[in-house]
Amino acid sequence: MPPTSQPWPERVPVLIAGGGPVGLALSALLARHGIASLVVEADEGYCSGSRAICMSRRSLEILGWAGADAATVATGLAWVGGRSYYRDTEVLHFRMPSEPHERFAPMVNIQQYYIEEYAHRAAQDVGTLSDVRFGARVAAVHAADDGVTVEIDTGGGSARVAAQWLVACDGGRSTVREQLGLRMEGMQYEGRYVIVDIEQDTRREVERLAWFDPPSNPGSTILMHRQPGNVWRIDYQIRDDEDADAAVRPENVLPRVQSHLDMIGESAPWKPLWISIYNAKCLTLPRYRYGRVLFAGDAAHLVPIFGVRGLNSGLDDAGNLAWKLAWVLRGHAEASLLDSYSDERVHATRQNIAYGAKSTEFMAPPDFAFRLMREAALRLALDHPEVRSLINPRQSAPIDYAGSPLNGPSDFDDAPGAAPGCPAPEASLLRGAEAVHLSQSFGRAFTLLCFQADGAVPDALGALAAGKAGPPVQWLVVAPAAAPGGDGVLRDAHGQAWQRYGATHGTLYLIRPDGYVLARWRQPDPDRVQAALAPFLLNLPAGASDAS
Ligand SMILES: Cc1cc2nc3c(=O)[nH]c(=O)nc-3n(C[C@H](O)[C@H](O)[C@H](O)COP(=O)(O)OP(=O)(O)OC[C@H]3O[C@@H](n4cnc5c(N)ncnc54)[C@H](O)[C@@H]3O)c2cc1C
Repeated sequence: MPPTSQPWPERVPVLIAGGGPVGLALSALLARHGIASLVVEADEGYCSGSRAICMSRRSLEILGWAGADAATVATGLAWVGGRSYYRDTEVLHFRMPSEPHERFAPMVNIQQYYIEEYAHRAAQDVGTLSDVRFGARVAAVHAADDGVTVEIDTGGGSARVAAQWLVACDGGRSTVREQLGLRMEGMQYEGRYVIVDIEQDTRREVERLAWFDPPSNPGSTILMHRQPGNVWRIDYQIRDDEDADAAVRPENVLPRVQSHLDMIGESAPWKPLWISIYNAKCLTLPRYRYGRVLFAGDAAHLVPIFGVRGLNSGLDDAGNLAWKLAWVLRGHAEASLLDSYSDERVHATRQNIAYGAKSTEFMAPPDFAFRLMREAALRLALDHPEVRSLINPRQSAPIDYAGSPLNGPSDFDDAPGAAPGCPAPEASLLRGAEAVHLSQSFGRAFTLLCFQADGAVPDALGALAAGKAGPPVQWLVVAPAAAPGGDGVLRDAHGQAWQRYGATHGTLYLIRPDGYVLARWRQPDPDRVQAALAPFLLNLPAGASDAS
């Protein structure tokens, strides 16, 4: 996309530095909240080459709130499990939680440039709220208490834009981070992987495939994933003494790939598309909010690719940040709400790094002791199924915000998977004859999720329900499959919602716009519900401020 000749705005509510997948998804989410943003992207188009390919179910939900899920699912390849081999023997066949009636598969493989394109398109679908400028680079940042002035190299000129909020989504080498003099903390692993994308026709099932010490490449570890367009992602570990430049030369890469394809019986002609080298990093900023500047995605944290937590966690950042920025900009919440973005997402990164480090230590053992333990686990797994969980790759999953300052009350302890701070469990429901999923209702507003045996909102809560449709608060009433009730009632056709939320008649959940549980009551008292919502309902027009 050529740089635009449109004049640059003088001021914007939100400036997003970097139009990678996180920046574009954030812009699309903000647009759905009615918030305008300017995205400044240094490249002239979407990313090329080999980057994220495995999108988690949680990421698909977030892309759904942005309006980019349908295209992602239509292009992507869904999968639920995988196989690991030690030498030439299968030692693990794992499956991720998956069930009939689900909205999304646990994982969908799709090249990162599609995510960028679909997020960009989804942002444009909303109208003019998302202004994306390719071929322009954030050059300097001047942060003040009441806003940020950004100097932009427009490719042949320069511009100065004043933003109420700047979000740095400018990746691992973030200019914004450098401008603020910030450094990430953490460590990186020495072990290196060559990453090769090849095009080859295949009929093989879509699964995550891993080989440890395979006869095709003794001593190495090889990972394979299918991608749309007959593309294989092949990652293999190189020896510590191998030279990085030599390792990515085609004359060194292609024979290893050929040997492995021969071993697994993939005989169709193939050609390489992309070759690069990677080493795992566990790095994060200590905070993601510095006054009026916020950090998201790789600009905020770099986590190992094993377990696919990179882009998936970046999209979770965007899902967490979008509604909070919207609430603050609309005056419905204090600016301090954005501190909870930092608290929650730094906590998530630390968890992701802990999981990612475990996966990395298994995939690329950093020293002799780790190598010995892995060898022992793989050998034992040959004959002892009970050991196989040790070699099960832990794939990306949403992180609980158990210690979040936002969490409200809970007057019961059962259903710990739906306690305040947890991602609200998914459920497949019926609205009339139409099958719907609970997660489809999240993304825009706070949700009062009310479990009612008779499908009617009780009188005591009626005042809260009256006249409240759409942001900032919406009501959902879930009734058992056979209950009476009007059109607005959701029927728990498969019994999933009542069971997963530990619901009894009258149970009420308060769910955040990003689909996390904020508070819950078996005996809801209207005043308490009102108090839990109050920090998010500031400055509402008269008649709408009583959570009614
Ligand atoms: C080989 C590989 C495989 C991976 N596989 C997975 C996977 O399967 N699943 C997963 O979740 N993650 C994966 N990741 C990680 C994933 O690619 C990153 O986490 C993801 O790209 C982060 O997105 P982002 O938008 O934060 O940053 P980026 O994608 O890096 O985008 C940043 C954007 O900012 C732009 N930019 C930079 N500086 C400026 C500036 N000064 N002004 C304006 N624009 C600027 C850049 O041009 C870029 O477009 C993988 C990474 C690699 C390298």
